[in-house]
Amino acid sequence: MKVLIADSIDEEGIDNLKEVAEVVVDTKISYEDLIKTINEYDGIIIRSRTKLTKDVIDKADNLKIIARAGVGVDNVDLNAATDKGIMVVNTAESTIITVAEHTMGLILAIARKISIADKSVKDGKWEKSKFLGSELRNKTLGVIGMGRIGSQVVRRCKAFEMDAVVYDPYLQEKVAEKMGIELTDLETVLKEADVITIHVPLTPQTKHLISKKELKIMKNTAFIVNCARGGIIDEDALYDGLKNAEISGVALDVYENEPPKDNKLLKLNNVVLTPHIAASTQEAQRDAAIIAADEVTQVFKGKTPKNVLNLPVVDQVTFQKLKPYFNLSEKLGKFISQFVKGKIETLEVVYCGELSEIENQEILTRTILKGVLSPVLNRLVNTINSFSIAKSRDINVIVGKQSNADTYDSIIRVKARTESDSFTIEGTQMYESRIIKINDYRLDVKPEKNMFLARYHDVPGSIGSIGSKLGEHDINVGVMQVGRDIKGGQAIMVLTVDNPVPADVIKDLEKLDNVYEAVAITL
Ligand code: NAD
Repeated sequence: MKVLIADSIDEEGIDNLKEVAEVVVDTKISYEDLIKTINEYDGIIIRSRTKLTKDVIDKADNLKIIARAGVGVDNVDLNAATDKGIMVVNTAESTIITVAEHTMGLILAIARKISIADKSVKDGKWEKSKFLGSELRNKTLGVIGMGRIGSQVVRRCKAFEMDAVVYDPYLQEKVAEKMGIELTDLETVLKEADVITIHVPLTPQTKHLISKKELKIMKNTAFIVNCARGGIIDEDALYDGLKNAEISGVALDVYENEPPKDNKLLKLNNVVLTPHIAASTQEAQRDAAIIAADEVTQVFKGKTPKNVLNLPVVDQVTFQKLKPYFNLSEKLGKFISQFVKGKIETLEVVYCGELSEIENQEILTRTILKGVLSPVLNRLVNTINSFSIAKSRDINVIVGKQSNADTYDSIIRVKARTESDSFTIEGTQMYESRIIKINDYRLDVKPEKNMFLARYHDVPGSIGSIGSKLGEHDINVGVMQVGRDIKGGQAIMVLTVDNPVPADVIKDLEKLDNVYEAVAITL
């Protein structure tokens, strides 16, 4: 395995990586050279300098993982990486404490007028009465966004004996309870807080979340801190609010336009500004490098890293419940793909029994799709890109749940519909994967690498003639299972065979009387 370190990262991360891969450090590599050489690498670690555009990613034929040591991935074309099946990870947790501590710094700086007092002393003045501050003790912290950073800020503010009111409409009550906080609406936070701190992502919903109306609701003694993203506060409204004494101050690390060159806020006194450095500490950079290197190592060891941005997030408990079904899911997909006739228009997946109780089985659906698509595509298909490939091929994926799973703990049922055909397969997982139903025929077969399936007329001699024909061509049968709808009706035969059944043998088999269809399947 070969990894390119394209931006400078802490040595500790590089050392860890050298144990599992050949590491090339070229932190000045040009965009043109990157395009020329990217296909040599299995992994790349970047910070914000290197731009991984679609043009670069299109050439990255061997790349398995892009690791961003840091948070923002604006410099990576996520869609291009997803389409190409390349995992993108970041190291968001490396900055949590660092940003929370910077937020504390800004809260104190604004509450105690530290930066403006500092400037005054350096200007040779001694204006003690001008810088009357306010204590944090017994004050109310208003938190907008109680995620990783917001919750760390609350912990630290509690040590300052502050109360907290929190607005986060996506946080579950029981999680909030565990954190020892009470959730409320935005208006209450704005009304009650003495200090408001923002820790939400910038989204269409959070753009200008704090604007004219919100600033008017706030106490005029309150101040506001933003270490999240520029654009969450409407800076024009903020300037007016400060000028009109609707609030008492603001501390910003992030801006609508960075750097904030002609920003009117720079001229105000009750404003503390830092140049987007909330995440910049030696510790955060070291941790980012270590985590990025660790994520790359995990992928090379065939494991799933923790911070994948283009895969659904699954907690460990759920992951362990779903993991035994990965192999079965892929095999069901592969089976169906090779048996159904025509272009699949709809794929219906139903999770039955205990599996249906799991909230999100998306990773299994992605694995089934990987199985469906990989036999027919001459390109890498994996759980990262299987959904986007299915969409581009107009395959409609419908997922359902059913509490009943007959006598099994769980069943996965997959049905493919084409314009002219439909085919259903069911499987379960016990100590090993089993195919338990094909269309309406009940079976019990372990999916093996080489399989053969025939549909035939259920009359004496049919089974024997198929077996003899395979024998004539020296194809050894492992397991045979047959099923039929009614006596003398249509029947199905599923065989595991030692070697793939060649195409000319399939043709010969289909010439047999009473054989409607014969298919070789490779799983
Ligand atoms: P997170 O994903 O852990 O938490 C975000 C929280 O915001 C979640 O709890 C979510 O439910 C909540 N949320 C989402 N939309 C909301 C809305 N409309 N109203 C209220 N709550 C909402 O994120 P995090 O790691 O804590 O990061 C928080 C912010 O800090 C992000 O914007 C991130 O980009 C920023 N950040 C800034 C720096 C910096 O250098 N200044 C560094 C790291 C992170």
